[in-house]
Amino acid sequence: MVPGARLIVLGKQGAGKGTQCVRLSRHYVIPHISTGDMLRAAVKQQTDLGREATRYMDAGELVPDELLLSMLDRRLAQDDTRGRGFCLDGFPRTAAQAEALDGLLAPFELDVVINLEVPTKLVLGRLASRRVCVDCGANYSTFAPPKVDWICDICGGEVVQRPDDTEAAITRRLDLYEKETAPLISWYSRSNRLIGVDGEGSPDEVTDRLIRAIDEQRRPRAGE
Ligand code: ADP
Ligand code: ZN
Repeated sequence: MVPGARLIVLGKQGAGKGTQCVRLSRHYVIPHISTGDMLRAAVKQQTDLGREATRYMDAGELVPDELLLSMLDRRLAQDDTRGRGFCLDGFPRTAAQAEALDGLLAPFELDVVINLEVPTKLVLGRLASRRVCVDCGANYSTFAPPKVDWICDICGGEVVQRPDDTEAAITRRLDLYEKETAPLISWYSRSNRLIGVDGEGSPDEVTDRLIRAIDEQRRPRAGE
């Protein structure tokens, strides 16, 4: 196995990208880079970026590309990602972002782009019941809450409903996914970088499927 990996996980809101990227980043020992988490951290710290981004996020709109790109450029330039790669979660979401990403990564290339496939009917239920830790971003739900009184099991932070998990913002995010992000699937499959993975089932089942699919896709390069 080649050390490190450069992975992207695409998928609708509520497909389980975040949970699976955390697990993949542990398995391959690569940084998990979530643009949503980075933006939420900026909002919390009230940086200029956070102040600018918050109104887009709360409405379920996309944050403008130039803000995203400069944030990501800084993150990708750090030693850990240059050396080991990354599991990118929530980026790219537009054709312009996908093209810019290839430029930011050069001379490196993506190993695998995963499309985590889950029917819309299923994600709507998951999003409505989703609850997240405000400090570490861990995911819970009304069906699988933290052990004690909405206090995060991992870090002790408060577990809440995201401000953009309202019905209106969810509908808008899913529309934007279809319009802006879904076209990236055929774009990446044309360059033979895409694999589709079924995202239904328990988190453990999905992780096993992902690791098998990723290893399969990367195998030919192991002997290079
Ligand atoms: P979700 O996938 O559930 O929409 P994320 O946590 O990935 O949630 O993102 C939350 C919000 O952050 C998005 O609705 C959007 O406003 C902003 N955002 C995150 N990533 C991007 C991106 N690549 N381009 C534009 N906006 C983004
Ligand atoms: Zn936490």
